[in-house]
Amino acid sequence: MLEIPVLISGGGPVGLTASLLLSQHGIRSLLVERHPGTALTPKARGINARTMEVFRQCGIDAAVREAGLAEGRLGLIVWTETLAGKEIERRVPGRATAKNMAATPVRNCLCAQDDLEPVIRRFAEAAGPGELRFNTELTSFNQGPDAKGPVTGILTDRTTGAETPFEARYLIACEGAQSRVRRALGVTMIGEEKVYDSVNILFQADLTQWVADRPAALYFVEQQDLRATFLTINGRDRWGFLIHSAKQFGWRPEDFTPEFCTRLIRQGIGVPDIAVSVLGVSPWEASAIVADRYRVGNVFLAGDAAHEMPPTGGFGLNTGVQDVHNLAWKIAAVLRGKADETLLDSYDAERQPFGRIITQNALANALSMGRHARQSNVLPRREFLNEQGLIFGASYDSMAMLPDDTPQVTVDDPVTDYVPSARPGGRAPHVRLTRGHEPISTVDLFGPHFVLLAGRDGDAWRQAAQAIGTSWPPLVGYTIGGDGDLGDPDGEWHHAYGVDADGAVLVRPDGHVAWRSRSGASNPEDVLRNALDRLFGRMPAMA
Ligand SMILES: Cc1cc2nc3c(=O)[nH]c(=O)nc-3n(C[C@H](O)[C@H](O)[C@H](O)COP(=O)(O)OP(=O)(O)OC[C@H]3O[C@@H](n4cnc5c(N)ncnc54)[C@H](O)[C@@H]3O)c2cc1C
Repeated sequence: MLEIPVLISGGGPVGLTASLLLSQHGIRSLLVERHPGTALTPKARGINARTMEVFRQCGIDAAVREAGLAEGRLGLIVWTETLAGKEIERRVPGRATAKNMAATPVRNCLCAQDDLEPVIRRFAEAAGPGELRFNTELTSFNQGPDAKGPVTGILTDRTTGAETPFEARYLIACEGAQSRVRRALGVTMIGEEKVYDSVNILFQADLTQWVADRPAALYFVEQQDLRATFLTINGRDRWGFLIHSAKQFGWRPEDFTPEFCTRLIRQGIGVPDIAVSVLGVSPWEASAIVADRYRVGNVFLAGDAAHEMPPTGGFGLNTGVQDVHNLAWKIAAVLRGKADETLLDSYDAERQPFGRIITQNALANALSMGRHARQSNVLPRREFLNEQGLIFGASYDSMAMLPDDTPQVTVDDPVTDYVPSARPGGRAPHVRLTRGHEPISTVDLFGPHFVLLAGRDGDAWRQAAQAIGTSWPPLVGYTIGGDGDLGDPDGEWHHAYGVDADGAVLVRPDGHVAWRSRSGASNPEDVLRNALDRLFGRMPAMA
């Protein structure tokens, strides 16, 4: 019997990230992926800035950027009749404006999924103690009648058929939209299924002359008898071609032979004899559905297994990576005996409602473009690729944060507007700081530990963090501004974090604010210990 603290089923981008994060928390896991290797075709390409922050905290952002398209090779969204013909409109996505980019120290990135997955895999394999086994499938599992026991089951080697029984404390199902674990658990999916159909074609052709002077992530083709999108992969000769609403045009999946695909691609380019080589064709249907719960006993759903959404807006992979960023530190805290099991309920409480909001907005993007009907020249709603509020504005309400008495931040449009706030539950805002002469961001301080940020007169908080920080979870404290540990060159930190010079903010390993004290306390160590005990659901004896 193979005994393992955490089994991760599925080695897509979400499972691979879960493995890496758990290893960074020192937790042993086994990832099984039924295919012999990582993805062979690009699906996702747009890695948003919040996910790049997660990758930066994992130490893989530079490698992801290196594997992706160089900066400056995007920047636009183009609508056109044909690539070689009349341009209808071009837009700069709202996400790329200077104001929006000031919300983060990182830039978004375009890295096709088949280039991204090998990078995460490489780092996950090197990190340890997590182990990855490809060509291995989770073929059955059980967690007892009351869903309280360990998860047991069988792993099957896809080449030899050899079966290995296992017992795991927790199972994270990152199995994608067709997750068998989710089905076996009887989890209900809420939302709209099969809203529209698409065909994704991967092809090779040199399109440089029609794109070089207007580098874009997406080139939408709008014709009476063809609606499609050229998806930039390397910006030169490797492209995706996404045919929208094929059924509306009378095409069935079996019609998409290489010859037919070539004809449609040429029609989209507007050059009837251009050399095109079709590399792959995959018809699929877009749904907008979310699991009604992300936790059943000791099994957690993450990524597409928990939420399936149209790709309009590029949120599927991003939301999944952020799911496991939320979950990994909680599992680590419980497995180390530092937190009560109930902490794990906060995963569902925090991520499920947000998954629903994201999925509804991905669907709203798609519908605004007329994806469900045979329409042409339908430009998307203004929120499309302008979803700054969805990218940075997630604000949780659960037992894993301690509310203060400040009101929820209000914005005109929660989809597009992001107002930085260190109110407990929200993402700890980016503020430019210095460490010695080195410029850093607050975001760079977060990682596989809790962080206490105290004002320039808050040394007592920092000392309290130091006194507590020797036991897991590691707790690192900094004073900011004045003669503190970190410089605040713009004098912004106190205002951005909503505290006085002697106040403090506690930030979780996933970069969300757990607790905040506007000012000092007479017994900071007791106050901080108490906050951590409440966050971890600990009885005093456990602490
Ligand atoms: C055309 C298109 C464009 C997209 N563009 C974007 C974008 O720009 N940005 C974005 O964020 N998202 C985008 N997406 C969505 C993105 O591709 C998915 O959200 C992402 O792949 C989900 O990752 P995942 O790891 O949850 O699941 P998957 O990538 O589906 O991986 C699941 C893995 O689990 C394995 N598996 C399943 N069951 C088992 C089992 N029992 N045992 C072992 N292994 C198992 C599968 O083989 C698979 O490798 C796009 C999707 C499409 C179709």
